[in-house]
Parts: sequence; C-alpha cells; structure tokens
Amino acid sequence: MMRQKVRVRFAPSPTGPLHIGGVRTALYNYLFARQHDGDFILRIEDTDSQRFVPGAEEYIIEALTWLGIRFDEGVSFGGDKGPYRQSERRSIYKEYVDQLLDKGLAYIAFDSPQELEAKRNEIANFQYDASTRMQMRNSLTLSREEVEQLIADGAQYVVRIKIEPGEQVIVNDLIRGEVVINSSVLDDKVLFKSADQLPTYHLANIVDDHLMEVTHVIRGEEWLPSAPLHVLLYRYFGWTDTMPQFAHLSLLLKPEGNGKLSKRDGDRLGFPVFPLEWKDAEGKISSGYRESGYLPEAVVNFLALLGWNPGNDQEMMAMEEMIRLFDLSHCSKSGAKFDYEKGKWFNHQYLQKKSNAEIATMFIPILETQGIANPDPAYVAKVAGLMKERVNFVKELWDASAFFFKAPEQYDEKTVKKRWKADSAAQLAELADVLRQREPFDSAGTEEVVKAWIESKGYHLGNLMNATRLALVGEGKGPHIFDITETLGKEETIHRINRAIASLG
Ligand code: GLU
Repeated sequence: MMRQKVRVRFAPSPTGPLHIGGVRTALYNYLFARQHDGDFILRIEDTDSQRFVPGAEEYIIEALTWLGIRFDEGVSFGGDKGPYRQSERRSIYKEYVDQLLDKGLAYIAFDSPQELEAKRNEIANFQYDASTRMQMRNSLTLSREEVEQLIADGAQYVVRIKIEPGEQVIVNDLIRGEVVINSSVLDDKVLFKSADQLPTYHLANIVDDHLMEVTHVIRGEEWLPSAPLHVLLYRYFGWTDTMPQFAHLSLLLKPEGNGKLSKRDGDRLGFPVFPLEWKDAEGKISSGYRESGYLPEAVVNFLALLGWNPGNDQEMMAMEEMIRLFDLSHCSKSGAKFDYEKGKWFNHQYLQKKSNAEIATMFIPILETQGIANPDPAYVAKVAGLMKERVNFVKELWDASAFFFKAPEQYDEKTVKKRWKADSAAQLAELADVLRQREPFDSAGTEEVVKAWIESKGYHLGNLMNATRLALVGEGKGPHIFDITETLGKEETIHRINRAIASLG
C-alpha cells in the first residue's frame, strides 16, 4: 500500500546554525514537494538535550523563510500531525519502545559507561551485537525479577534494538539504487534512554516519519549508514508497506574537491557556509550569505545546481522553473565541489535582473552609512543602472560609483601625471563653455556636439576626454564619459571641471 499524497520533511537537529548543505537538503525537499503538489513538513529533532543550542530553531526558520523555502506544516506552521518538536512527543515514543520490548525485538540494557569501556578494552573492535550481547548486563541475561528490581531501584538503562545477524538488508535509494548490507555488521543501537526518558534519533525519526505519513526521505549522505537500521525498524514495527522511499544526497565538497566542506574552508577562503550570520555562545560571529550581500534567488539557484542538473547545461532558473524541472534521478551520486566563485557569478546575474529602482532601495542604506544624506532615489536608480553591470554585490556599488555622490576632493596622482597635459586647463575651460550652451544635456546629444567641437578645434580627442574624466571622477575609471555628464547634470559637471582647472592648473 503506497501512500497517496507526497509528504516530505526537513528534520534538522537544533545543534547550531544550519549549514549550507542542510539548506540544500531543505531546498531539494521543497522542490520535490511542490512538484508533486505534496506537503512539506518542518520537524525539529531535538531529542539530544546535550547538543541543544538555544536560538538554532528560530535561525533555521528565519533562514529558510529568507530563501523562499516554504513549509506547509510543522514547527511554527501548524498542521494536524503535531506536535512537530520531538521533545514534545515523549509519551508517543514510549509507547513504540514498549511495543518492540513486548515483541522481543528490543531489550533493556543496564551496562554502565565503565562496564562498556572495560569490554572495549577486553575485546578488540567490540560491538554490542549478537556476538557479545549475551556477555552483557541486560534483560536477555538477567532474570525478569532482577530486571524489575533494578528498574524499581532506579537503575539507569537503555533500550537496544535486537538485530539478528546474517540477514541481507536492502535499502532502495532513489539516487543510489539498491544498497545491500548484511545485518551482521550492524550493532544493537540504543533506541531509548531512561535518563531523560527520550528516544534516540533512530527511533524518533522512524516513528515520526510513520505517524506523519512521510512518503520520501530526502536527506544527506551522512545518514546513509543509518538507513539499514531504519529499514529494519520499519520491518520490526510491521510498517514495511508504507516505508518511505529513500534518497541520500551526495556531500558538498571543499572547493578543491577533497573532503567534506567545512566551516574552516569558509574561513580559510573567505566565503560563508551559513545562510545567515550566526553569533555563538562566546559571541563569535560567523558570516552569512544574507549579511554578505547575496540575493536569496542567487543562493537558491547556486545551491540547487550543487548536486543536481536539469539534464542540460541550463544554469539560470527561477524557483518555479526548478520546481518544474527537479528530478531526483538527476541528482549525482558523487559529491559536488563547492565552487563559491560560481555563487558570486549567480549573484551578479540576479543583480542584473533587478530593476534599477530595486537596486536603489538596497543601495540607499549603504549610501547613508557612507555619509550621503537623503540620496534622491531616482538619481540612485540612474547610477545603479549605469554601474550594476560592473559589480557582483550591491555593496560593491559604493566603491564603483562614490564619485556620483561626492565630487572628487583630490585627484589620483598617477592619473594626473599621465592624463593632465599642459593644455588641459585651457581646453577644459573652453569645454565648460560648450557644455553651458548645450541643451538638453543627454548623453548621446552632448557627445555628438562635443565631438564635433573637438574636431573643429583640432584638439586631441583622447587627451581631452581623459582630462575630463579626471576632473569628473578624480581618477581614470568609470563608465562612458557622456553617461557621467548626463547623470551628474550640467551644473555639477561644469562645477567639477572648474574645480579641476583651479586645483590642477
Ligand atoms: N535530525 C537529522 C539531521 O539533523 C535528520 C536526518 C534525517 O533527515 O533523517 O539531519
């Protein structure tokens, strides 16, 4: 009996900021859910109280919201299969642990950490399994009365799954195909701890996927080793018919391609590995894509292609298009190199798609922090239109275009030496007169008039234009000179020319 409606979940453990690889997992689940008109659930797997980090859950929600990855159900999104935070589902898990105990598919173990350590020293490569469990202190080796007495006396215990050796366990993975494992290599994993009355990841994960009617488990490759145990748990509970389909995504690799991408790679090479900035308990800040100036559409597009492709070399895809094209069978089995330069390229592309007015809205706060009071949005938009092609990030617009907002206070020495000739002052004074006559002050018209005047005078076009650029910009850079004059306007252009004449002589 296959379940009808596609239901997938993102199930992070709130142990810190969401890593960019986790964002990709969430994104693939989202694309898959949307494509199949399914449901996308946010479940918080917080049964490991030791590793719980305050603020991590809020961070995850804020990050995915920023990226446009929306949930239908789950923590903070409602739904009728909750609660969706595992720490609030204790009583539910207890019932399923008891089921396994009753059926003899799990057992209670009292071995203390010291006893386990002693065994590890005694037996090389010790594993708690069929070959060793009868030498341990558990409900298989103790009498029923002893077990009951120990529990009544308050002894701490764990519940372990009882794995029968010598069986082939098959994980059908939508990306990797059939993965076959012999149960003899598996250990009797802990499913429940009396100390905090909480299940471990494995039990809670399976019970919840079942109760929440999850149809597909799309998650990172690091969970593949757990999958055989999960398949066995489905069998033990008698849920094999409704077992979700698995899809284990390949790792994100270091930019050089050897080994798993880590936070240290980001620090080393100067790129964020977190969607949003994160401040840890010691106050140490890790940079985020949002705060670094990335557009959410660019991050999503960039991440989507790290481990998936639409079957051709198309790169630019809006969310809607990715939803249409996404296909688990086009997800790669091998890891994807984290090419962060490509991330910048995507940001550049998406920036070009923004209207000048939108870019102005993002640029104005930056201008204000640079001391430009009340910049005119229309003027900023015009500058954005001229300069956006030259930058990857809105914040880079300041360096590229500050001269549009304040007249040069000094002139770049090297450029002066090279570009300011003996006759520059005299020629620019004449140019100022020509410009004063010019109406309207549009780029193309002004260019025509000025060029005709230069020709009639027999002046050197390049020299004069270079000197003009120096006067207007303060150095030798910038866009087309007549686009600059049009944008600055007649008054400001003439004013800057006069200032240069006065100061450079
Ligand atoms: N809590 C696990 C994690 O942090 C969930 C793994 C899974 O999706 O099954 O990724």
